[in-house]
Amino acid sequence: MPTHADLLKRTADHAIVYLDTIGERHVGAMSSADDLRRQLAVPLPDSGDSEDAVIDALASAGARGTVATQGRRYFGFVVGGSVPAATAADWLVSAWDQNAGVFVLSPIVSVVEDVTAGWLKDLAGLPAGWSTGFVTGCQAANFTALATARHHVLNQAGWDVEASGLYGAPWVHVVCSEESHYTIFNALKLLGFGADRVTRVPADEQGRMRADELARTLAAVTGPTIVCAQAGNVNTGAFDPIDEIATITAAHGAWLHVDGAFGLWTAASPTRAHLVAGIARADSVATDAHKWINVPYDSGVVFTAHPASHRRAMTLSAAYIIESAKERDPHEFVPEESRRGRAVPIYAALRTMGRKGFGELIDRCCNHATRLAARLRADARLEVLNDVVINQVLVRVRGTDPDAATRAMVERLQQEGTCWASGTTWKGMAALRLSVSNYSTTDADIDRTAEAILKVTTP
Ligand SMILES: *Cc1c(COP(=O)(O)O)cnc(C)c1O
Repeated sequence: MPTHADLLKRTADHAIVYLDTIGERHVGAMSSADDLRRQLAVPLPDSGDSEDAVIDALASAGARGTVATQGRRYFGFVVGGSVPAATAADWLVSAWDQNAGVFVLSPIVSVVEDVTAGWLKDLAGLPAGWSTGFVTGCQAANFTALATARHHVLNQAGWDVEASGLYGAPWVHVVCSEESHYTIFNALKLLGFGADRVTRVPADEQGRMRADELARTLAAVTGPTIVCAQAGNVNTGAFDPIDEIATITAAHGAWLHVDGAFGLWTAASPTRAHLVAGIARADSVATDAHKWINVPYDSGVVFTAHPASHRRAMTLSAAYIIESAKERDPHEFVPEESRRGRAVPIYAALRTMGRKGFGELIDRCCNHATRLAARLRADARLEVLNDVVINQVLVRVRGTDPDAATRAMVERLQQEGTCWASGTTWKGMAALRLSVSNYSTTDADIDRTAEAILKVTTP
């Protein structure tokens, strides 16, 4: 049996080869599901295969069966890579195998969460007194924030939703944008609000919630109200006018939640922070770390202006759980009980980048998107559909049947392999959607990407 040392070093060697070659490989997956099953779907061994054999088999399947989302020219969804220090810190988290539920199970994770929460609030322009929970992603962050909102607005109406549920509760008005991310609706569904019993406020041509329409909607409702706004539309990157929205929700006494999965981090940019002006006037904010902070999956963060409501919404004490009177018990701010120390890679990423380096990462990605849009706009066959305000670009092929031409172009681009980006539909129009969110992308990668897109665009 190999020692820990031999096995971990062997694994590190595999990981190093993977990461050293990722910049030049075909960006999409190179194996089909059948290929992967042929390599991996062995009958469960009776007495167990050797550690070396299993790790080698996984590394070999992963070389072709992964998508190079960690590479320099992956522009699908909003994904981000992982900066080296975050990957390394994540290995430590696995080696430690800490249960980050309560302080007594892992003092280091409790303290790292506290420190990291402080840094994140500082970078996001949120008050230091806000509560913070480290969850799996922005879906879980939206869920946690809206559970806190549910507690808070019903508590104000004299209803204990944690004890009594929603049976017979006062009506809660939930107001979203027609452009709210689907994970908002999924969170509302999980919380018993119903994904469809929501008022959807119209958005403008860039996907920003219209403040005048929100004011009109709220004028017609009374009682407990939750409003969901967005910092960074998943297609266009556009920001709802948060400051204006906060004035309207404050006047109405409504809870304001902001989904800032990636857009929140423009707060750290020297040149684009104005886009999230007013964010500190929200009641809750949800975001991701695995997208733009460039840490490994799975990592999201929720912030609330109401720590007592946050705790109340998430916790039920059990007699055998030993809570700390003085120190942070991480489980109080998240739906999970036992969990990994997912703040540790964020700590490593932020400490190695520093405030300046993190702001530069955000700005660099936005500048790449601007450069890419300019290259594509310069070609008469293509049209850029959105105002490129941050890191998102939507491109469409012009012509007699632009939808078909665009979809065919997206398919050829994915096959060609220089980069990977997905198709989307924006305002009923097919488009290629590019999101620049990886720390390692260079100007040269943007130029290679533009050339690849132009090459697969037919005359
Ligand atoms: C990605 C995203 C989410 C969901 O985040 P996950 O990390 O996938 O859970 C929610 N809202 C917006 C705007 C997003 O871009």
